[in-house]
Amino acid sequence: MFKAFLIKYAEIGVKGKNRYLFEDALVNQIKYALKKCDGTFQVRKTQGRIYVDALSEFDFDETVEHLKRVFGISGICPVVYVEDEGFEKLCEDVISYIDKVYPDKNKTFKVQSRRARKNYPKDSMTINMDLGEAILNAYPEMHVDVHEPDIMLNIEVREKIYIYSETIPGPGGMPVGTGGKAMLLLSGGIDSPVAGYMIAKRGVKLDAVYFNAPPYTSERAKQKVIDLAKIVSRYTGPIYLHIINFTDIQLYIYEKCPHEELTIIMRRYMMRIAERIAQETECLGLVTGESIGQVASQTMHSLVATNEVCELPVYRPLIGFDKLDIVDVSEKIGTYETSILPYEDCCTIFVAKHPVTKPSLKVIRRHEENLAEKIDEMVEEAIRTDELIIVSES
Ligand code: ATP
Ligand code: MG
Repeated sequence: MFKAFLIKYAEIGVKGKNRYLFEDALVNQIKYALKKCDGTFQVRKTQGRIYVDALSEFDFDETVEHLKRVFGISGICPVVYVEDEGFEKLCEDVISYIDKVYPDKNKTFKVQSRRARKNYPKDSMTINMDLGEAILNAYPEMHVDVHEPDIMLNIEVREKIYIYSETIPGPGGMPVGTGGKAMLLLSGGIDSPVAGYMIAKRGVKLDAVYFNAPPYTSERAKQKVIDLAKIVSRYTGPIYLHIINFTDIQLYIYEKCPHEELTIIMRRYMMRIAERIAQETECLGLVTGESIGQVASQTMHSLVATNEVCELPVYRPLIGFDKLDIVDVSEKIGTYETSILPYEDCCTIFVAKHPVTKPSLKVIRRHEENLAEKIDEMVEEAIRTDELIIVSES
Protein backbone atom coordinates (compact mmCIF):
# COMPACT_ATOMS: atom_id res chain seq x y z
CA MET A 1 0.00 0.00 0.00
CA PHE A 2 2.86 2.43 0.68
CA LYS A 3 4.38 3.94 -2.43
CA ALA A 4 6.79 6.47 -1.01
CA PHE A 5 8.63 7.70 2.07
CA LEU A 6 8.84 11.20 3.37
CA ILE A 7 12.25 11.69 4.92
CA LYS A 8 12.46 13.89 8.00
CA TYR A 9 15.68 15.48 9.11
CA ALA A 10 16.17 17.49 12.20
CA GLU A 11 19.45 18.54 13.66
CA ILE A 12 21.53 20.73 11.58
CA GLY A 13 23.19 23.64 10.35
CA VAL A 14 20.38 23.49 7.81
CA LYS A 15 20.59 27.20 7.72
CA GLY A 16 21.21 29.33 4.66
CA LYS A 17 23.72 27.91 2.24
CA ASN A 18 24.43 24.89 4.44
CA ARG A 19 20.93 23.66 3.88
CA TYR A 20 21.71 22.70 0.26
CA LEU A 21 24.93 20.96 1.20
CA PHE A 22 23.12 19.05 3.88
CA GLU A 23 20.18 18.06 1.69
CA ASP A 24 22.32 17.14 -1.30
CA ALA A 25 24.56 14.95 0.87
CA LEU A 26 21.47 13.35 2.37
CA VAL A 27 20.02 12.63 -1.07
CA ASN A 28 23.32 11.07 -2.17
CA GLN A 29 23.53 8.87 0.91
CA ILE A 30 19.92 7.76 0.50
CA LYS A 31 20.60 6.78 -3.11
CA TYR A 32 23.66 4.82 -2.01
CA ALA A 33 21.72 3.03 0.73
CA LEU A 34 18.92 2.05 -1.65
CA LYS A 35 21.19 0.64 -4.36
CA LYS A 36 21.25 -2.69 -2.57
CA CYS A 37 17.47 -2.89 -2.19
CA ASP A 38 15.15 -4.73 -4.50
CA GLY A 39 13.16 -2.23 -6.52
CA THR A 40 13.73 1.04 -8.31
CA PHE A 41 13.46 4.30 -6.43
CA GLN A 42 13.55 7.97 -7.17
CA VAL A 43 14.88 10.33 -4.52
CA ARG A 44 13.61 13.89 -4.86
CA LYS A 45 14.01 17.11 -3.05
CA THR A 46 11.01 19.46 -3.26
CA GLN A 47 10.15 22.49 -1.19
CA GLY A 48 12.40 21.63 1.69
CA ARG A 49 11.36 18.00 1.80
CA ILE A 50 12.94 14.80 0.62
CA TYR A 51 10.82 12.04 -0.81
CA VAL A 52 11.74 8.53 -1.80
CA ASP A 53 9.30 7.30 -4.45
CA ALA A 54 9.09 3.64 -5.34
CA LEU A 55 8.95 3.26 -9.11
CA SER A 56 8.47 -0.49 -8.92
CA GLU A 57 7.41 -3.16 -6.49
CA PHE A 58 9.68 -3.16 -3.45
CA ASP A 59 10.23 -4.90 -0.14
CA PHE A 60 8.96 -2.52 2.54
CA ASP A 61 10.95 -3.93 5.48
CA GLU A 62 14.19 -4.16 3.56
CA THR A 63 13.84 -0.61 2.29
CA VAL A 64 13.15 0.77 5.76
CA GLU A 65 16.11 -1.20 7.12
CA HIS A 66 18.40 0.45 4.56
CA LEU A 67 16.99 3.93 5.15
CA LYS A 68 17.60 3.50 8.87
CA ARG A 69 21.33 3.41 8.10
CA VAL A 70 21.42 6.87 6.58
CA PHE A 71 22.83 9.41 9.01
CA GLY A 72 20.93 12.68 8.99
CA ILE A 73 17.52 11.02 8.80
CA SER A 74 15.52 11.65 11.95
CA GLY A 75 12.31 10.00 10.78
CA ILE A 76 10.97 7.88 7.94
CA CYS A 77 7.28 8.32 7.13
CA PRO A 78 5.69 5.69 4.88
CA VAL A 79 3.40 7.53 2.48
CA VAL A 80 0.30 6.42 0.61
CA TYR A 81 -0.60 8.54 -2.35
CA VAL A 82 -3.88 8.72 -4.13
CA GLU A 83 -5.08 10.50 -7.26
CA ASP A 84 -7.13 13.64 -6.78
CA GLU A 85 -10.57 12.42 -7.79
CA GLY A 86 -12.66 14.74 -5.71
CA PHE A 87 -13.08 15.25 -1.98
CA GLU A 88 -15.59 12.40 -1.53
CA LYS A 89 -13.07 9.96 -2.91
CA LEU A 90 -10.32 11.42 -0.68
CA CYS A 91 -12.53 10.80 2.37
CA GLU A 92 -12.98 7.17 1.32
CA ASP A 93 -9.26 6.77 0.77
CA VAL A 94 -8.40 8.24 4.17
CA ILE A 95 -10.98 6.08 5.92
CA SER A 96 -9.60 2.98 4.30
CA TYR A 97 -6.03 4.11 5.15
CA ILE A 98 -6.97 4.39 8.82
CA ASP A 99 -8.61 1.00 8.72
CA LYS A 100 -5.47 -0.67 7.36
CA VAL A 101 -2.91 1.09 9.55
CA TYR A 102 -4.92 1.18 12.79
CA PRO A 103 -6.95 -1.99 13.31
CA ASP A 104 -7.66 -0.74 16.84
CA LYS A 105 -9.81 2.37 16.46
CA ASN A 106 -9.72 3.36 20.10
CA LYS A 107 -7.50 6.34 19.35
CA THR A 108 -7.47 10.10 19.20
CA PHE A 109 -6.45 11.89 16.03
CA LYS A 110 -5.87 15.20 14.40
CA VAL A 111 -5.91 15.99 10.69
CA GLN A 112 -3.10 18.23 9.56
CA SER A 113 -3.25 19.18 5.92
CA ARG A 114 -1.00 21.21 3.65
CA ARG A 115 -2.20 22.55 0.38
CA ALA A 116 0.94 22.70 -1.74
CA ARG A 117 -1.23 22.96 -4.88
CA LYS A 118 -3.13 26.18 -4.44
CA ASN A 119 -5.85 25.47 -7.00
CA TYR A 120 -7.33 22.74 -4.80
CA PRO A 121 -10.94 23.81 -4.06
CA LYS A 122 -10.69 23.60 -0.25
CA ASP A 123 -8.16 25.44 1.90
CA SER A 124 -6.27 23.51 4.56
CA MET A 125 -8.50 24.54 7.48
CA THR A 126 -11.55 23.28 5.61
CA ILE A 127 -9.81 20.05 4.62
CA ASN A 128 -8.96 19.44 8.29
CA MET A 129 -12.52 19.99 9.43
CA ASP A 130 -14.32 18.14 6.67
CA LEU A 131 -11.98 15.14 6.75
CA GLY A 132 -12.17 15.06 10.54
CA GLU A 133 -15.93 14.90 10.32
CA ALA A 134 -15.85 12.11 7.75
CA ILE A 135 -13.52 10.08 9.98
CA LEU A 136 -15.72 10.60 13.05
CA ASN A 137 -18.73 9.46 11.07
CA ALA A 138 -16.94 6.34 9.85
CA TYR A 139 -15.38 5.46 13.22
CA PRO A 140 -17.45 6.75 16.15
CA GLU A 141 -14.89 5.25 18.61
CA MET A 142 -12.29 7.74 17.46
CA HIS A 143 -11.96 11.21 18.94
CA VAL A 144 -10.29 14.40 17.97
CA ASP A 145 -7.46 15.69 20.13
CA VAL A 146 -5.71 18.71 18.68
CA HIS A 147 -3.05 18.90 21.40
CA GLU A 148 -1.71 15.37 21.86
CA PRO A 149 -3.33 13.10 19.29
CA ASP A 150 -2.36 9.42 19.09
CA ILE A 151 -2.51 9.74 15.33
CA MET A 152 -1.33 12.83 13.50
CA LEU A 153 -2.89 12.31 10.12
CA ASN A 154 -0.99 14.31 7.53
CA ILE A 155 -2.59 15.14 4.21
CA GLU A 156 -0.54 16.91 1.56
CA VAL A 157 -2.25 18.10 -1.55
CA ARG A 158 0.20 18.10 -4.44
CA GLU A 159 -0.27 16.75 -7.99
CA LYS A 160 -1.35 13.66 -6.11
CA ILE A 161 -2.54 13.60 -2.53
CA TYR A 162 -0.17 12.20 0.07
CA ILE A 163 -1.39 10.53 3.24
CA TYR A 164 0.93 9.63 6.11
CA SER A 165 0.79 9.34 9.87
CA GLU A 166 3.52 7.01 11.08
CA THR A 167 7.13 7.97 11.71
CA ILE A 168 9.80 5.29 11.97
CA PRO A 169 12.82 6.68 13.85
CA GLY A 170 15.96 7.22 11.78
CA PRO A 171 19.51 7.12 13.14
CA GLY A 172 19.90 10.89 13.55
CA GLY A 173 23.30 12.45 13.09
CA MET A 174 24.47 14.30 9.99
CA PRO A 175 24.74 13.07 6.40
CA VAL A 176 28.16 11.67 5.58
CA GLY A 177 29.99 14.16 3.40
CA THR A 178 28.98 17.29 5.28
CA GLY A 179 31.86 17.15 7.72
CA GLY A 180 35.15 16.57 5.94
CA LYS A 181 37.08 13.31 6.00
CA ALA A 182 39.05 11.40 8.63
CA MET A 183 41.44 8.44 8.61
CA LEU A 184 40.24 5.51 10.74
CA LEU A 185 42.85 3.13 12.15
CA LEU A 186 40.87 -0.02 11.55
CA SER A 187 41.96 -3.25 13.20
CA GLY A 188 40.08 -6.51 13.33
CA GLY A 189 38.81 -5.87 16.85
CA ILE A 190 35.48 -4.77 18.27
CA ASP A 191 36.36 -1.17 18.99
CA SER A 192 37.66 0.53 15.88
CA PRO A 193 34.67 -0.24 13.61
CA VAL A 194 32.41 1.27 16.29
CA ALA A 195 34.68 4.32 16.54
CA GLY A 196 34.46 4.80 12.77
CA TYR A 197 30.69 4.47 12.85
CA MET A 198 30.40 7.13 15.54
CA ILE A 199 32.58 9.67 13.76
CA ALA A 200 30.78 9.03 10.46
CA LYS A 201 27.50 9.67 12.25
CA ARG A 202 28.63 13.25 12.70
CA GLY A 203 28.79 13.64 8.92
CA VAL A 204 32.45 12.72 8.48
CA LYS A 205 33.55 10.63 5.53
CA LEU A 206 35.98 7.83 6.36
CA ASP A 207 39.13 6.46 4.83
CA ALA A 208 40.80 3.64 6.73
CA VAL A 209 44.22 2.13 7.30
CA TYR A 210 45.03 -1.38 8.45
CA PHE A 211 48.49 -2.49 9.58
CA ASN A 212 49.07 -5.97 8.37
CA ALA A 213 51.91 -8.24 9.47
CA PRO A 214 52.22 -11.18 7.09
CA PRO A 215 53.16 -13.95 7.55
CA TYR A 216 52.56 -13.48 11.29
CA THR A 217 48.99 -12.50 10.51
CA SER A 218 47.06 -14.52 7.99
CA GLU A 219 45.21 -13.68 4.82
CA ARG A 220 42.04 -14.41 6.78
CA ALA A 221 42.85 -11.70 9.32
CA LYS A 222 43.19 -9.22 6.47
CA GLN A 223 39.93 -10.42 4.92
CA LYS A 224 38.23 -9.92 8.27
CA VAL A 225 39.26 -6.26 8.26
CA ILE A 226 37.98 -5.86 4.71
CA ASP A 227 34.69 -7.45 5.79
CA LEU A 228 34.45 -5.06 8.74
CA ALA A 229 35.09 -2.09 6.45
CA LYS A 230 32.34 -3.41 4.21
CA ILE A 231 29.84 -3.45 7.07
CA VAL A 232 30.85 0.05 8.16
CA SER A 233 30.49 1.22 4.54
CA ARG A 234 26.76 0.43 4.67
CA TYR A 235 26.51 3.54 6.78
CA THR A 236 29.32 5.65 5.40
CA GLY A 237 29.47 5.00 1.69
CA PRO A 238 32.60 3.61 0.00
CA ILE A 239 35.73 3.45 2.17
CA TYR A 240 39.25 3.72 0.76
CA LEU A 241 41.09 1.12 2.81
CA HIS A 242 44.89 1.32 2.88
CA ILE A 243 46.65 -1.92 3.78
CA ILE A 244 50.12 -1.22 5.09
CA ASN A 245 52.69 -3.96 5.40
CA PHE A 246 54.00 -3.45 8.91
CA THR A 247 56.02 -6.65 9.35
CA ASP A 248 59.53 -5.28 8.86
CA ILE A 249 58.91 -2.33 11.14
CA GLN A 250 57.53 -4.59 13.85
CA LEU A 251 60.43 -7.02 13.62
CA TYR A 252 62.89 -4.14 13.74
CA ILE A 253 61.25 -2.68 16.85
CA TYR A 254 61.24 -6.18 18.37
CA GLU A 255 64.94 -6.47 17.72
CA LYS A 256 65.99 -3.02 18.94
CA CYS A 257 63.65 -1.97 21.75
CA PRO A 258 62.75 -3.32 25.20
CA HIS A 259 59.88 -5.74 24.87
CA GLU A 260 57.70 -4.13 27.50
CA GLU A 261 57.65 -0.98 25.33
CA LEU A 262 56.91 -2.77 22.07
CA THR A 263 53.22 -2.01 21.93
CA ILE A 264 53.65 1.68 22.65
CA ILE A 265 56.43 2.13 20.11
CA MET A 266 54.52 0.12 17.56
CA ARG A 267 51.42 2.26 18.15
CA ARG A 268 53.53 5.40 17.70
CA TYR A 269 54.68 4.16 14.29
CA MET A 270 51.12 3.29 13.33
CA MET A 271 50.05 6.81 14.19
CA ARG A 272 52.94 8.36 12.28
CA ILE A 273 52.21 6.35 9.16
CA ALA A 274 48.46 6.88 9.42
CA GLU A 275 49.08 10.61 9.69
CA ARG A 276 51.28 10.62 6.60
CA ILE A 277 48.59 8.86 4.56
CA ALA A 278 45.94 11.12 6.07
CA GLN A 279 47.81 14.19 4.94
CA GLU A 280 48.29 12.83 1.45
CA THR A 281 44.56 12.10 1.17
CA GLU A 282 43.13 15.31 2.64
CA CYS A 283 41.95 13.72 5.87
CA LEU A 284 41.52 16.23 8.67
CA GLY A 285 42.02 13.88 11.60
CA LEU A 286 42.76 10.35 12.78
CA VAL A 287 40.20 8.08 14.46
CA THR A 288 41.01 5.22 16.84
CA GLY A 289 39.01 2.83 18.99
CA GLU A 290 40.92 3.61 22.16
CA SER A 291 39.18 3.87 25.52
CA ILE A 292 40.89 4.93 28.75
CA GLY A 293 42.36 2.04 30.71
CA GLN A 294 41.08 -0.75 28.47
CA VAL A 295 44.55 -2.19 27.98
CA ALA A 296 48.10 -1.18 28.95
CA SER A 297 48.54 0.88 25.80
CA GLN A 298 45.41 2.88 26.58
CA THR A 299 46.17 4.29 30.00
CA MET A 300 46.35 8.07 30.22
CA HIS A 301 50.14 7.78 30.33
CA SER A 302 50.25 5.58 27.25
CA LEU A 303 47.90 7.87 25.36
CA VAL A 304 50.29 10.76 26.00
CA ALA A 305 52.96 8.69 24.28
CA THR A 306 50.85 7.67 21.26
CA ASN A 307 49.39 11.12 20.89
CA GLU A 308 52.73 12.86 20.88
CA VAL A 309 53.75 11.79 17.41
CA CYS A 310 50.79 13.34 15.55
CA GLU A 311 49.91 16.87 14.65
CA LEU A 312 46.45 16.12 13.33
CA PRO A 313 43.71 15.84 15.91
CA VAL A 314 43.14 12.24 17.02
CA TYR A 315 39.47 11.49 17.56
CA ARG A 316 38.74 8.78 20.12
CA PRO A 317 34.95 8.61 20.29
CA LEU A 318 35.01 5.58 22.64
CA ILE A 319 37.30 7.20 25.16
CA GLY A 320 34.78 7.08 28.02
CA PHE A 321 32.93 3.91 27.00
CA ASP A 322 32.97 0.64 28.92
CA LYS A 323 33.64 -2.43 26.84
CA LEU A 324 30.05 -3.62 27.30
CA ASP A 325 28.69 -0.38 25.88
CA ILE A 326 30.99 -0.73 22.88
CA VAL A 327 29.82 -4.30 22.38
CA ASP A 328 26.20 -3.07 22.42
CA VAL A 329 26.87 -0.64 19.60
CA SER A 330 28.83 -3.18 17.60
CA GLU A 331 25.92 -5.61 17.83
CA LYS A 332 23.52 -2.92 16.79
CA ILE A 333 25.54 -1.92 13.73
CA GLY A 334 26.31 -5.50 12.74
CA THR A 335 30.09 -5.66 13.18
CA TYR A 336 30.21 -7.77 16.35
CA GLU A 337 29.97 -11.23 14.80
CA THR A 338 32.83 -10.46 12.44
CA SER A 339 34.95 -8.72 15.08
CA ILE A 340 34.96 -11.74 17.37
CA LEU A 341 36.24 -14.16 14.73
CA PRO A 342 39.43 -15.50 16.26
CA TYR A 343 42.07 -14.46 13.72
CA GLU A 344 45.21 -13.05 15.26
CA ASP A 345 46.22 -9.44 14.74
CA CYS A 346 49.64 -7.90 14.75
CA CYS A 347 49.26 -6.47 18.24
CA THR A 348 48.53 -9.84 19.79
CA ILE A 349 51.49 -11.58 18.20
CA PHE A 350 54.16 -9.16 19.30
CA VAL A 351 52.65 -8.41 22.65
CA ALA A 352 54.90 -8.45 25.72
CA LYS A 353 54.07 -10.36 28.88
CA HIS A 354 54.37 -7.27 31.04
CA PRO A 355 53.80 -4.17 28.93
CA VAL A 356 54.47 -0.81 30.57
CA THR A 357 51.36 0.96 31.76
CA LYS A 358 53.08 4.22 32.65
CA PRO A 359 55.60 4.73 29.91
CA SER A 360 57.92 7.68 30.33
CA LEU A 361 58.06 9.79 27.21
CA LYS A 362 61.73 10.44 27.69
CA VAL A 363 62.52 6.75 27.91
CA ILE A 364 60.36 5.89 24.91
CA ARG A 365 62.01 8.59 22.82
CA ARG A 366 65.45 7.37 23.85
CA HIS A 367 64.65 3.79 22.91
CA GLU A 368 63.24 4.88 19.58
CA GLU A 369 66.69 6.27 18.82
CA ASN A 370 67.82 2.63 18.61
CA LEU A 371 65.83 2.53 15.38
CA ALA A 372 67.57 5.51 13.79
CA GLU A 373 69.58 3.57 11.27
CA LYS A 374 66.78 2.04 9.22
CA ILE A 375 63.41 3.21 10.44
CA ASP A 376 62.87 6.19 8.14
CA GLU A 377 63.56 4.09 5.10
CA MET A 378 61.23 1.38 6.41
CA VAL A 379 58.43 3.87 6.95
CA GLU A 380 58.91 5.18 3.41
CA GLU A 381 58.87 1.65 2.05
CA ALA A 382 55.68 0.83 3.97
CA ILE A 383 53.95 3.89 2.54
CA ARG A 384 55.28 3.19 -0.96
CA THR A 385 53.87 -0.32 -0.93
CA ASP A 386 50.46 0.73 0.42
CA GLU A 387 47.77 -1.52 -1.07
CA LEU A 388 44.56 0.45 -1.68
CA ILE A 389 41.22 -1.35 -1.69
CA ILE A 390 37.97 0.50 -2.30
CA VAL A 391 35.43 -1.15 -0.06
CA SER A 392 31.75 -0.69 -0.75
CA GLU A 393 28.47 -2.43 0.03
CA SER A 394 27.00 -1.86 -3.39
P1 ATP B 1 40.21 -2.84 18.54
O1 ATP B 1 39.10 -3.59 19.20
O2 ATP B 1 39.74 -1.71 17.69
O3 ATP B 1 41.18 -3.74 17.86
P2 ATP B 1 41.78 -2.91 20.87
O4 ATP B 1 40.99 -2.81 22.09
O5 ATP B 1 42.26 -4.23 20.40
O6 ATP B 1 40.99 -2.15 19.71
P3 ATP B 1 44.49 -1.91 20.57
O7 ATP B 1 44.90 -3.15 19.91
O8 ATP B 1 45.25 -1.35 21.71
O9 ATP B 1 43.00 -1.93 21.10
O10 ATP B 1 44.38 -0.78 19.50
C1 ATP B 1 43.93 0.50 19.80
C2 ATP B 1 43.51 1.17 18.51
O11 ATP B 1 44.62 1.25 17.62
C3 ATP B 1 42.47 0.38 17.75
O12 ATP B 1 41.17 0.69 18.19
C4 ATP B 1 42.72 0.83 16.35
O13 ATP B 1 42.13 2.08 16.11
C5 ATP B 1 44.22 0.98 16.31
N1 ATP B 1 44.87 -0.26 15.83
C6 ATP B 1 45.38 -1.27 16.56
N2 ATP B 1 45.91 -2.23 15.78
C7 ATP B 1 45.73 -1.83 14.51
C8 ATP B 1 46.03 -2.39 13.22
N3 ATP B 1 46.63 -3.56 13.09
N4 ATP B 1 45.69 -1.66 12.13
C9 ATP B 1 45.07 -0.47 12.24
N5 ATP B 1 44.76 0.10 13.42
C10 ATP B 1 45.07 -0.56 14.53
MG1 MG C 1 42.92 -4.72 18.53
